[in-house]
Amino acid sequence: MLDQKPILVTGDRPTGRLHIGHLVGSLNNRIKFQDNYQCFFLIADLHMLTTHYDKVEEVEQNTIQLVIDWLSVGMDPSRSTFYIQSQVPHITELHTILSMLCSVPRSRRIPTLKEKVQDMGLGENYSVGLLGYPILMAADILMFKATKVPVGDDQLSHLELTRELARRFNHLYGDFFKEPEPVVSETPRLVGTDGNRKMSKSLDNCIYLSDDAETVESRVRGMYTDPKRIRADIPGTVEGNPVFIYHDAFNTNIEELEDLKSRYRNGKVGDVEVKKKLSIAINSIIEPIREKRSCYEKRIGEVRDILHEGSIRANRIAKENMDEILDHIGLFQP
Ligand code: ATP
Ligand code: MG
Repeated sequence: MLDQKPILVTGDRPTGRLHIGHLVGSLNNRIKFQDNYQCFFLIADLHMLTTHYDKVEEVEQNTIQLVIDWLSVGMDPSRSTFYIQSQVPHITELHTILSMLCSVPRSRRIPTLKEKVQDMGLGENYSVGLLGYPILMAADILMFKATKVPVGDDQLSHLELTRELARRFNHLYGDFFKEPEPVVSETPRLVGTDGNRKMSKSLDNCIYLSDDAETVESRVRGMYTDPKRIRADIPGTVEGNPVFIYHDAFNTNIEELEDLKSRYRNGKVGDVEVKKKLSIAINSIIEPIREKRSCYEKRIGEVRDILHEGSIRANRIAKENMDEILDHIGLFQP
C-alpha cells in the first residue's frame, strides 16, 4: 500500500558522534515527527567529503556510531528509512540538474560557506564541491519530495536556497516540487563548551550522547563561563553565559534553576555548584540513551542490515522520482 503521509528528510554528516546540540537542535524533532511523517534519515557522506575528503578512513566507524546514536534516541528504522547518501546516486544526478539553476554569486552568499572557509583557513582556495554543499542538500530534500526538514539554524540559509531552487524549477519546467519548510527547535544553535558560536563535532567542543557520566562532569567543569567573574562573590552575567544556556536547555528543575540564576547574579554561588547541578541535569537526560547505546553496540550486524535495507528502499523511491523529474523537464528518454 502507498504511504500517503507527508515526507520529511534530514540527516547528519558521518564526521563523528552526535552531541547534545544535535539532541535539542534536531533529534528531538525527528522523533516527534516519526508518527505522522514518512521520514528519510540520511547519512550525508558526500557532504562529509566537502570538508573531510582526506579523512575517509573514519567514515565506516563514524557511520555505525551515528546510527547507534539514532537508534538510542528513538529514531525507528521500522517506521523510517535510514540510508547512505552515496548509495543513492540519483541524489547526485539531481544535484547536477539543480546546480544549473543556481548562480555562482548566489551560492557564494551562504553564510556557512564563509564560516567553513574561515575555520579551515582556505582563503579563496575552496573546492567547487564545498561551494555546492547547499545545492547537494537541496537535492537530498527534493529527491524525496520532502515538505518538512528539521534543521539547526546554521542550515536555515541552505533551506532557503532549496526553496528558491524548487521555485525556479517549477517556474522553468512547470509545477512539480512543493517548497519544503524548515522545522526549527527552541534551541536551534547550541553554543560549544568553549563558548564558540556552535557546538560542532568537527570542532570537538561537544558533550557527546555517548560520553560516560565522568566525561560529562569533566567537560562541564572545563566549560567557558562569565570571564569577568574571577571569584564566587563577584556578581555574574547569566544572559549569554554558556553554562546557563545549557541549564535552560537541559535542566527541567525550574525552581533550582531560578535560584541558581538569582544567586549567580548576586555573587552568592560558586561556578562549582552551578556546574555540578548542570552535570546532574545533562547526565539524567543522557543516561537512558547510554543504556540503549550499550545494547546496540553488541548488535553491529543489525545496524549494517538497517542501512543496507534502507539504502535499497531509498534507491527504489529515488529512481521512481528521478524518472518523473526527467520526464517533467522534458529530457529525451528513448
Ligand atoms: P560538522 O562539524 O561536521 O559540520 P555538526 O556538529 O555541525 O558537524 P552536522 O552533521 O553538520 O553536525 O549537522 C546535523 C544537524 O544538526 C543539522 O541539522 C544541524 O543544523 C544540526 N546541528 C548541528 N550542530 C548543532 C548545534 N550546535 N545546535 C543545534 N543544532 C545543531
Ligand atoms: Mg555542520
